[in-house]
Amino acid sequence: MSAAGEEKILVSVRVRPLNEKEKTRNDRCDWECINNTTIICKSHNLPDKPSYTFDRVFGFESPTKQVYDDGAKEVALCVLSGINSSIFAYGQTSSGKTYTMTGITEFAIDDIFLYIEKHKQERKFTLKFSAMEIYNEAVRDLLCEDSNTPLRLLDDPERGTVVEKLREETLTDRNHLEELLSICETQRKIGETSLNETSSRSHQILRLTIESSNREDSSAILAASVCFVDLAGSERASQTLSAGSRLKEGCHINRSLLTLGTVIRKLSKGKNGHIPYRDSKLTRILQNSLGGNARTAIICTMSPARSHMEQSRNTLLFATCAK
Ligand code: ADP
Ligand code: MG
Repeated sequence: MSAAGEEKILVSVRVRPLNEKEKTRNDRCDWECINNTTIICKSHNLPDKPSYTFDRVFGFESPTKQVYDDGAKEVALCVLSGINSSIFAYGQTSSGKTYTMTGITEFAIDDIFLYIEKHKQERKFTLKFSAMEIYNEAVRDLLCEDSNTPLRLLDDPERGTVVEKLREETLTDRNHLEELLSICETQRKIGETSLNETSSRSHQILRLTIESSNREDSSAILAASVCFVDLAGSERASQTLSAGSRLKEGCHINRSLLTLGTVIRKLSKGKNGHIPYRDSKLTRILQNSLGGNARTAIICTMSPARSHMEQSRNTLLFATCAK
């Protein structure tokens, strides 16, 4: 791949299989991946059969390992060369974001630990892990059991935006990381239960920071993080909400998702102008993992069902703008 090619955002689309509910109501599969990069809409309502081309498209027969290998691996493993990166799952609720991102995170962790095992004779590695959730523009620590108090964002002259009091664990080994991941999952579920809903309105960020130095020359330190981001359902970005607190929630989720969309669109166009990182919590936190030298991969997930046509087309529109 050319140097210029490597700078752009890697954009993939993954179509999940029809689920039982969709099958039971005889929903139709209206999409077909005709090769590795192009997906077409077969709907009779759209006689011109629109087609969309991305860096990669994955049909329902593609396992997550393949999505990882072709759509995320290269970007995730940049962290080992000291380059910040972020991997996003974008799509409507129940399109497969969490399914995809959980798998990708596990495969990336496997590769990172393999790499460290292979290079630990000559390099010393330090791994740190933190996890947070953004709900209603409030940041919550997913590693902290008493995580009801929202965390503040501070501006650090050297490090940029920092999440104040966010717990950051130095990893002892792979098992330690697995334990922390299961704490995150529990905390996320507790959050959902107390809000009496699914996680469709919150953004989850898992961040793994890796520092390494040559054992002979400890002055040359490589340090970078990789963020795995499971976004709120994209229907929140388009839906117009009616009244009261719902409206407030909708606006906030609009804000983080919409700002992310704007930031990504501007970055992908290579515009030098103002990039509005500061307009939402999500983009502030991820500023160092987006743009500049950072690498980004976006996996857009969608249902193949006819009944989800409108949302799927919105998702593809987002993906098109990110290219
Ligand atoms: P989201 O996080 O976007 O709301 P989920 O990842 O929770 O969606 O997926 C919804 C359901 O569909 C889950 O039960 C999940 O296991 C299943 N699912 C999602 N993607 C796939 C896939 N590619 N293959 C098989 N099952 C999938
Ligand atoms: Mg989910």
